[in-house]
Amino acid sequence: MERFSIESVQITSQSFTALENLNVAMGHHANWLKDFIRGLLCNEDHHERDLDENAHHLCQFGQWYDGDGRLLFRNEPLFEDLEDRHKTMHDAARVLMRAHRAGQPVNPQDYDRFMDLAINFQMEARQFQYTLLQRVCAIDQLTGTGNRYAMFHRLIEEKERAGRTEHPCVIALMDLDRFKQVNDEHGHITGDLALKSVSDFLVRSLRKYDSIFRFGGEEFLICLPNTDLKTAEKRLNHLREGLAELDIPTSNGQTIRMTGSFGVGYLRSGFPIQDSIQHVDEALYKAKENGRNRVEVAL
Ligand code: GH3
Ligand code: MG
Ligand code: MG
Repeated sequence: MERFSIESVQITSQSFTALENLNVAMGHHANWLKDFIRGLLCNEDHHERDLDENAHHLCQFGQWYDGDGRLLFRNEPLFEDLEDRHKTMHDAARVLMRAHRAGQPVNPQDYDRFMDLAINFQMEARQFQYTLLQRVCAIDQLTGTGNRYAMFHRLIEEKERAGRTEHPCVIALMDLDRFKQVNDEHGHITGDLALKSVSDFLVRSLRKYDSIFRFGGEEFLICLPNTDLKTAEKRLNHLREGLAELDIPTSNGQTIRMTGSFGVGYLRSGFPIQDSIQHVDEALYKAKENGRNRVEVAL
């Protein structure tokens, strides 16, 4: 599954459209395959473009790939693989077409090779689609941070790593202070904007291999791998101070400020993840009790 490092988190409101477009492109490929086999079986002419060395750029799937597909997915390894598989399949199709045009029977081995490539291509495209879908399902759509599904996935990995390597992993829960007031005074739209501004600030302020998840409402879980509690406390205090100075835009063009309370503790390797979260939540509760805008450590 996709790891929610700070680097890879991005809002994906376009993702559903991208997934739909990929689906349409796969449909075009299925139709191309149908027409291609029909040409062979019914002894009909194939498209001239299928004989071209660049057939994989000329078919409808190829056009999607070179256009919208490349625009959105050029950095995805599975997307890169698709191009090779698509090209190899079209190369194998040309071998069949040439025999067919020359009036020769199709060699069964060439046919098998072509069909295996066509099926593999389709499976690879589906795998890519599944990977994207999994990613969309793991993102909180308001803030672009990971959601709980992504959070548990990451914490399971980090707990296992911490136990194996003896590099401790720290988790923190951050809850915005008096957030209800923000909604009451400025409305829910500003509340939503504020959640996005705050999470963007947190994402910007963390290291690349840290991760952040929307735990619920106005609460975020921050995961700091390979960090001891003392260092984490210092960094979170720095974060807390930065947050307090952040100008947050409202829906009517003003700016407001807000603070957050933090509970922090180890992701303990010998305990269920829920217990570590509970432990940190108790520290967060203490931070609220002790006046808010502070970091409390779960010992
Ligand atoms: P405290 O300092 O004790 O945390 O006070 P608080 O007002 O932040 O705490 P409380 O839990 O009473 O209220 C949290 C509020 O967050 C209530 C809810 O309306 C608001 N909230 C939760 N999720 C969202 C959201 O997605 N958008 C907006 N606009 N508000 C949200
Ligand atoms: Mg809350
Ligand atoms: Mg709150």
